[in-house]
Amino acid sequence: MDKVNKLMTTLVKRTEEEGYEIEQAPTPQPTEDEVLIRVTKVAICGSDINLYKWNDVAKVIAALPFTPGHEATGIVVAKGSEVKRLEIGDRIAVENHFYCGDCYQCKINRGDICSKMSQYGHGKGTIHGGCSQYSILSEKYCYKLVHNISDVEAVLLEPMGVAHNAIERLEVKGERVLVIGCGPVGLLAVACAKALGATEVIAADILPARLELAKKMGANIVINSRDGGTNHVKEEIMRITGGDGIGRICEASGAAMMLNGCFSYLRKGGRVTILGLPKQPLHVENVLQDIVFKSLTICTVHGRRIFHTWEECERLIAEKKVDAKVVVSHDLPMSKYKDAFQSLLSGQACKIVMDPQT
Ligand SMILES: [Zn+2]
Ligand SMILES: [Zn+2]
Repeated sequence: MDKVNKLMTTLVKRTEEEGYEIEQAPTPQPTEDEVLIRVTKVAICGSDINLYKWNDVAKVIAALPFTPGHEATGIVVAKGSEVKRLEIGDRIAVENHFYCGDCYQCKINRGDICSKMSQYGHGKGTIHGGCSQYSILSEKYCYKLVHNISDVEAVLLEPMGVAHNAIERLEVKGERVLVIGCGPVGLLAVACAKALGATEVIAADILPARLELAKKMGANIVINSRDGGTNHVKEEIMRITGGDGIGRICEASGAAMMLNGCFSYLRKGGRVTILGLPKQPLHVENVLQDIVFKSLTICTVHGRRIFHTWEECERLIAEKKVDAKVVVSHDLPMSKYKDAFQSLLSGQACKIVMDPQT
């Protein structure tokens, strides 16, 4: 069994200034249904940039003070007296949508979209987060790993889960799929689409390096949309599909122009899942032709189905149907967190994972 240190190194966001502080804090004690985990890996998400910089988005999604890091995996090293499901030594990954268990959504087993959701790593309902040697959370938010996947793969279950959730909603089996935007979640969506039976996956992005990664994740065709944007994607899709349009689109870019434009080349009767986060209103010029008369299905996802998505994603990784770690560009000690955020802000990084123990 692990010896638990009395003090731990942790990142904290206390003030509205850019950045985090690194400090030594007493290791907390779990009570009731809580477990203490030794965090083995924490991953940085695109949304963590908002928190780091403390911009207007951060003020909505987070509350000071808190330890950041909502994508985390670790080992249970201590537990409260009411913990039933988990044992010391279990490996877990954190479901950061801390559902209330009580609202309408929760009662119909949709904690993923709980209307009173707290969030780990955001100071919402908990000050704890994964950027810490140890962390505390209720056992009900722990996904217990059942396969022998690596710590890096385990920490990627959270972003991969968003991709998987979106692709499941898209019903891709036997279909040609377009994934717009090849950030880590878009790339994982490419791989999930292949794993879930898409016949062909087309990936669009503005960065050649990302398109190369998309090919590694299984994309059959890539489209560079840097010049021409959504119009160029439309031209390519119409050419590839002989003018029919594409039946399945996963919008993972969060670029308003790409989302607005995709309805014009979506096939009649098609499906779109939106998981990117546009900062502007949705604007479709030709609502009758591009939306209503197409008899479309538009889906959105927020997070993962608890724990269905986790089980499916872990299985896909364990069975080598998805090689999630391809998206990792940096694996750093947490002491280098400033470098990690610098490379993310400069656009050089894809997915960054950190080891909070070093
Ligand atoms: Zn995230
Ligand atoms: Zn709820």
